[in-house]
Amino acid sequence: MAPRRESRAMTHETMKTVYAGLRGTGRWHRVARGVTVAAVVCLGVCLGLGCSPPETEVAELVIQATPVADGIYVLTKSGIGGNIGLCVGDDDAFLVDCGDFFVGNLLMPFADEIARTVASVSDRPIGHVVNTHWHADHAGGNADLAIAGAVVIAHENVRERLAAPAGPEAYNVTMPPSEPEALPILTYTDSMTLYRNGEEIHLIHPPNAHTDGDTIVHFRNANVLHLGDLYYNGMYPFSPLDAASGGSVDGTIAALDRALAIGGDDATYIPGHGPVSGAEGVRAARGMLATVRERAAALMQEGRTREEIVAAGLTDEFDATWASPIMTGDAFVGIVYDSLLSHQQTPETDATERAASDDP
Ligand SMILES: [Zn+2]
Repeated sequence: MAPRRESRAMTHETMKTVYAGLRGTGRWHRVARGVTVAAVVCLGVCLGLGCSPPETEVAELVIQATPVADGIYVLTKSGIGGNIGLCVGDDDAFLVDCGDFFVGNLLMPFADEIARTVASVSDRPIGHVVNTHWHADHAGGNADLAIAGAVVIAHENVRERLAAPAGPEAYNVTMPPSEPEALPILTYTDSMTLYRNGEEIHLIHPPNAHTDGDTIVHFRNANVLHLGDLYYNGMYPFSPLDAASGGSVDGTIAALDRALAIGGDDATYIPGHGPVSGAEGVRAARGMLATVRERAAALMQEGRTREEIVAAGLTDEFDATWASPIMTGDAFVGIVYDSLLSHQQTPETDATERAASDDP
């Protein structure tokens, strides 16, 4: 499929401005259409460490399809971007996520490359795309794929967030809504089941987790779950970071519990970022999150300040496995603190309690 849109180029000056804003607030937001986790990761690598952006040529980028079960693949990108799920069979190619990602200083739509990779394992058209959430490293290919004929499906809040201008409050940047073609044309509230390629595909919405529009995608027959950014494997998550999109650390923990209850020990779990794993990987991520959360909450109850809590070494035992130059242990503790603080201020949005009383 020919690319419909031009690559969106950003100057280094723009990137520096964006990154300064991100570092200053400890939060991130959609500051340009598509500037999300991938942007933060790339910007952190390129600018936070003082090195030059990688001069990767587009032609060198490969999206690789790796089978994880019969008829189900994970598509990973040689650059930075969210993991894509793919279910193939007689009906169509059914995608979970289709994000943009950074190549050097270019924010690239990669729907054409996604389509080429899909074509390498299936002769069927891309018929459906589910967005696990609205961030552009997961939903950035919506417009291109929809124009090519795919039905885009997501939680109703994803459509709302894609349709709205991004809030300018954090970065003094006002972004226009996504193009109309990018908006999901099929939305749901709590759960939805689709039947494609001999699979029973269950979409489950955990409230206020990574965002307020997350979807767990469960391929029931194969027992494969795509968890989107509820699950970062082997790196501190940005999960509670998107409080501006209704995310929360407690909601993320509850969502991982729910995913484990759905899939059990034998399931295959596809994270939003990082390698595919079994249940043990999800448990490790959940355990790390919950431990850091409990430690931070205890110190907050003692009346310690954010600065004191960040400096308390709460993640020391986890840093070797989970820290990266992009998300250090200290930075992670800071965002857990921010999430807990905002949760205290709005007790009516108790995502943990709501999730517990809302089993799939
Ligand atoms: Zn995300």
